[in-house]
Amino acid sequence: MAKVVDRHKLTWYEELYLPAIASGLKRTFRQMFQPDITLQYPEERPQIYDDYRGAPGLVRDQDGREKCVSCQLCEYICPPKAIVIVPGEAPEGATYDYSHIEKAPREFFIDMLRCIYCGYCEEICPEQAIFMTGEYELNAGSRQELVHDKKRLYEIGGLRPDPIQKWKGKDDRLDAGGFTDLRKRGAGAEEGE
Ligand code: SF4
Ligand code: SF4
Repeated sequence: MAKVVDRHKLTWYEELYLPAIASGLKRTFRQMFQPDITLQYPEERPQIYDDYRGAPGLVRDQDGREKCVSCQLCEYICPPKAIVIVPGEAPEGATYDYSHIEKAPREFFIDMLRCIYCGYCEEICPEQAIFMTGEYELNAGSRQELVHDKKRLYEIGGLRPDPIQKWKGKDDRLDAGGFTDLRKRGAGAEEGE
């Protein structure tokens, strides 16, 4: 059964409305002398903290090497299926050392209309090649422009120094660890194929 709620009958003082207007004006004038909590965007920019999860981007290391090895783990884990990778061969003739890496993405797309900024791609990447960045201004004139391609993803990600560079100096590590024979055996097996 419907419940009938009695309406509060306004007193003569409330019906004047002037006290309510005066109370509102008092609050407004008091606020005018408080410190600003709004920003005059876009002239003023908010402070972006290191752990902010903005648009994902691909990164290069300090040698300019594309760190992504096209393993496709991020494509697999991405909940809304926003990532599409077209794997390719590691680029030949590159100025940086690709000798121990077989693959690199020929193309890499992230559909920012699907991305939910969960950060799973950054979490799962074994190469620390994809990061959530501080990029929060995604303006576009069409839906297609919000599908970021590899070039755009590297623009967003930029350069991120890698203190480990796990593939660099692998030959030296093999020699130091006494694995030189194993490497020769591996090379011999490849030739015998
Ligand atoms: S942040 Fe989440 S939704 Fe966006 S591309 Fe990465 S895994 Fe996919
Ligand atoms: S970004 Fe990382 S997880 Fe994604 S394909 Fe490249 S190496 Fe694999």
